[in-house]
Amino acid sequence: MTLSELSHDPLNFFWNALRTRGVRLVVYAIVVASLFPSSRFILLIAVILSLGIIWWREYRFKQDSKFLYLTVFVVFLVIGYIAAFINVSNIDELRLGMSPWGNGILQVPDGKYSGVGQGYRGPIKLEVQVKNHRIVDLKTLDYPDLISVLDNQIRLFKKQLLEEGRLFVPGQPEMLRGAQETLTGYVNAIQDALSKGIPAFPQYNWFSRLFLECFIGKAPDRVTLNALAILFAVFMVFEYAFQSMLIPGTGRSINCYNCASCVGVCPVKEVEGVQMPMGLVLLTRLGNYERVMELSKYCVGCGRCAAKCPIGNSGPLVISAAFQAAKEQKRSTSTENKRDTA
Ligand code: SF4
Ligand code: SF4
Repeated sequence: MTLSELSHDPLNFFWNALRTRGVRLVVYAIVVASLFPSSRFILLIAVILSLGIIWWREYRFKQDSKFLYLTVFVVFLVIGYIAAFINVSNIDELRLGMSPWGNGILQVPDGKYSGVGQGYRGPIKLEVQVKNHRIVDLKTLDYPDLISVLDNQIRLFKKQLLEEGRLFVPGQPEMLRGAQETLTGYVNAIQDALSKGIPAFPQYNWFSRLFLECFIGKAPDRVTLNALAILFAVFMVFEYAFQSMLIPGTGRSINCYNCASCVGVCPVKEVEGVQMPMGLVLLTRLGNYERVMELSKYCVGCGRCAAKCPIGNSGPLVISAAFQAAKEQKRSTSTENKRDTA
């Protein structure tokens, strides 16, 4: 598996790479990073840099034009970023003069308007009803931060807002985790809704909206560290389960408690830094069949380990499973290659 395979046959490259645990962990990290807008930007930079390095070498030696396409894409991205930045600054300045805050409600005609604001755990969606230039009703359409204590803050602010009839800056919320973000998201949703009622309210252009959506704020849902930890645990459980290799023809999978009972009775005990046969079990489960085959010559086949292992593993059994798995792996790779060349 070489880097040049990546540019010639990326699908096959990734499929083969996924057989390695390290690569699977990297893929997991990439999936998690893509959940956050700011880390998505870092990911994009990392992908561009990696492809840039690979394609630059191909361009130097084979005059391959992929590097030139990538350069054009990067130039487009930089120009787009500058354009989006200018557009957002200009529009924000214009918006200041037409804000729906306070007496700005006088610009909003009667009607119902819906808006979105980013809360602590995701977007807060609501509907605002305006009558005679006063806010007369507020309906929450979607509110992922619905935790009783935070909800009290919102209820209090809503009561004050309906009494005032216009948007004002709320007081400091209680010192609760997420309370400030929730209240800010709620207020932003009202502002967003009222802005839609103001005729000719300045809007960002499509590119700026896309850029903001993808890379700046407005995460679709805030992924908490707890959720990430749970995701990671689930991933590891599956990863571990996948590693317990089935022994062909027996329906049995190779597991190990790492109790080292087998090491204690093995006359070989340790070779080349690998404890026998416990290390062989681990290597087999990690898919490193080549190494198991190399080390198999040290096993004298005495069978002492089989008598000690609580789950019935033995050096010869693991070695034969690794040989069979390597053979099957080779067969499936050559079938894939034949299919590709056909
Ligand atoms: S069968 Fe092999 S691994 Fe098991 S105790 Fe004997 S020498 Fe060690
Ligand atoms: S005795 Fe069995 S379970 Fe214990 S370390 Fe050896 S192979 Fe694993």
